[in-house]
Amino acid sequence: METGLRSTQTRETRRRIILFPLPFQGHINPMLQLANILHTQGFKITIIHTEYNAPTHSNYPHFTFSSISDRFHEIEHQLPTIPSPDPGHFLNYLNRSCVDPFTDCLTGLLAESNNKGSIACLITDAGFYFTQAVADTLKLPRMVLRTGSLSCTTAYGVLPIFSKSKNSCFNLTTEDLDYEATVPEFPLLKVKDVMKMTINPKSYGYFLTNMLKEMKSSSGIIWNTFKELEEPSLKTICQEFPCPSFTIGPLNKYFSSSSSSLIEQDKTILSWLDTQAPKSVIYVSFGSAAQITKSEFQEVAHGLMNIGLPFLWVVRPRVVRGSEWLESLPERFQKEVGDRGHIVKWCPQQDVLAHPATGCFWTHNGWNSTLESICEGVPMVCSPCFTDQPINARYVSDVWKIGVLLEDGFERKGIQMALRRVMMDKEGEEMRERIRCLKEKVNLSLKKGGSSHQSLKRLVDYISLL
Ligand code: UDP
Repeated sequence: METGLRSTQTRETRRRIILFPLPFQGHINPMLQLANILHTQGFKITIIHTEYNAPTHSNYPHFTFSSISDRFHEIEHQLPTIPSPDPGHFLNYLNRSCVDPFTDCLTGLLAESNNKGSIACLITDAGFYFTQAVADTLKLPRMVLRTGSLSCTTAYGVLPIFSKSKNSCFNLTTEDLDYEATVPEFPLLKVKDVMKMTINPKSYGYFLTNMLKEMKSSSGIIWNTFKELEEPSLKTICQEFPCPSFTIGPLNKYFSSSSSSLIEQDKTILSWLDTQAPKSVIYVSFGSAAQITKSEFQEVAHGLMNIGLPFLWVVRPRVVRGSEWLESLPERFQKEVGDRGHIVKWCPQQDVLAHPATGCFWTHNGWNSTLESICEGVPMVCSPCFTDQPINARYVSDVWKIGVLLEDGFERKGIQMALRRVMMDKEGEEMRERIRCLKEKVNLSLKKGGSSHQSLKRLVDYISLL
């Protein structure tokens, strides 16, 4: 890809870095991309990973891997889906169950590296907050990779639902809440956006509080974003977090996420896209973790049937609660749609977004998907489901104005109107133009002298001195 990244591998061999991703697709992809980037800069790489959602070692012959037991099987039965709509519960569980195996593993790796100081640092997902105490005990500097946006991290710091502020509107019972009201502490968001983030503010709040606290105690934060996209939030973070921040993203521009995909990507779909007119296809995917109900699934299907435009729809197995795959598709769907629409289980998303035929991305606004869409200049229709997605969606629709938010969930008429606005209206053309400008800014930031390029240089120098 076109970046100012220059391999120093042949010039210089640096020390080893140990990385530890959270075991979810949206976290594994950026962590392995970061590992590849650091490898091109001469660092040796070791990945510690859980048994659950282990990466494919053979795709990374240049790394070494250590697997730890996460005792995932002990909680699997408690959760109807993983991660469940109570992500805090599962994340806090992982932060407890991994303490012993991770500590043993890291202690072993440090003992093996007989040359004292040959391990430069540990880089963990910011969500593995327990690792700060382990790193402190073992006297190893810990940096974090924050895979979400700067803006959502600033929002997490002030949202009253998580910080339990006394005068918060969230102290009302659910019936008394005004869902359309703006949240005074973060006026970009409406109460209904925050209510969507989790069904259990207690467990998620506990997770976020610990994550933010240990991010502040870390030796530095690596962000998967670029300065020009989130400058005001970067300022806030730099004021509130004492450690240095490095905005080196978007990481997917350096290395594709295909090699870290946990599900096999259906690449045959690219030849169908080749037969479609430029910017004519709606690409639909709700990522690796979100789930929808049967009736929401049917509304999506009707929306796509009624809009009359070509589409590529990723229906991940079990994305529909209680269904294995396509059982709830309306009977006449296939007949009505014919070759105009394609459904796959998983696809090479970055290649699809980069394809000239793709005209719009109907997305759940996971941060990777949002960034990947920006990188390819594809405007969005936003259907956020949980965690950071409602915040990302507000930025897409209300701040950057590069997409339309489906405010009232999945309903066929609203779906059709939103898709029409992006694909056919003048407003859609304006969004396309704005996101094209952002795409240019991405490319500039990665070129020699650009903000992400400079930040990466700073990061490499910083790690080298740890
Ligand atoms: N992805 C993919 N194929 C698909 C759908 C998604 O490879 O069919 C990748 C996508 O490129 C992105 C990741 O899965 O890198 C999803 O991460 P995101 O943060 O967008 O959402 P999450 O899955 O964490 O909710």
